[in-house]
Amino acid sequence: MNAVGLAGVRAPIKAFLMDQKRIAGLGNIYVAEALHRAGIHPVTPAGRVRRRAPELLAAIRAALEGGIARRGTTLRDYVDADGRSGDNAAALLVYGRAGEACSRCGVLIRRRVDAGRATFFCPGCQRR
Ligand SMILES: [Zn+2]
Repeated sequence: MNAVGLAGVRAPIKAFLMDQKRIAGLGNIYVAEALHRAGIHPVTPAGRVRRRAPELLAAIRAALEGGIARRGTTLRDYVDADGRSGDNAAALLVYGRAGEACSRCGVLIRRRVDAGRATFFCPGCQRR
């Protein structure tokens, strides 16, 4: 992903990042975490995020590296190759935390559903 790839894209940034044709393997959890880190609201048109592409890319890297370091995020049926469940869930900033206070600004985290997928975001850090 780069600034050129975002130009003129009207799709919401969340849908853009989850489009498997563009970025392989970036799942719902990491997209939510990366958008929170970058302070970008999930329904912002992708084209409007163009100037913040470097920031967003850094946020995606940070979210993924954090997740890998902690052996992935625990989902109900997830265990790693050694049979241990991941312990990344406790480190998630917004995903699965609707109704809890944002660790950065204290505003309550919200959940919304877009295209059948749950999205978690902080209305304080991620303004439209
Ligand atoms: Zn916040």
